[in-house]
Amino acid sequence: MSQTVKELHQKRMKLWNASIESHRRYINKKTGLFKNQFVEFRNCPVCGKDDYRTVFSKEGGTYVKCLDCSMIYINPVFRDEVLREYYEKNHSVQSEVVEEGDSFYKALYNQGLDRIEKKCPPGKLLDIGCSSGVFLDLSKQRNWETSGIELNIQEFTMAQKKGIWSITSCWRISDLRKNLTPSHYGMFLNI
Ligand SMILES: [Zn+2]
Repeated sequence: MSQTVKELHQKRMKLWNASIESHRRYINKKTGLFKNQFVEFRNCPVCGKDDYRTVFSKEGGTYVKCLDCSMIYINPVFRDEVLREYYEKNHSVQSEVVEEGDSFYKALYNQGLDRIEKKCPPGKLLDIGCSSGVFLDLSKQRNWETSGIELNIQEFTMAQKKGIWSITSCWRISDLRKNLTPSHYGMFLNI
């Protein structure tokens, strides 16, 4: 299906608006920041130091800059169980946008795969956050051995219906190791 840039932009706006709507319940209306019960503070994810200054806030998140290594990261962040719930129950607009913009995303993904395949011939491929599996479907047609992980229940179900091997239960790296069989190791990661 062909579409104009304007139509594509409108669909991207739909995705943006749905994301803002999903965030709303986590944000304190008075402060404009994530509610305390959902978040926890963390050290710099790069150097591990706990020395930072606030740079800016956006959509509930506070972005800080590490005074040791200059990494900019969100602090505080959602606690693991909050993030998990967020992704599992999140809207599935992402998949609608990609499925409806079929030709645009296919062209985009094919360009990406062209570049990847110049350096790395088709082999095993794992898409972390595979949504409804459009990228994996395309990769499969180009002889990649595909697998996907998707926490969003609706999108995971869509991917499964396409016959894409995917899981929705993993969260931490240790869960990944538990859920993936040894034959799946050594995959190319697409994050
Ligand atoms: Zn740092």
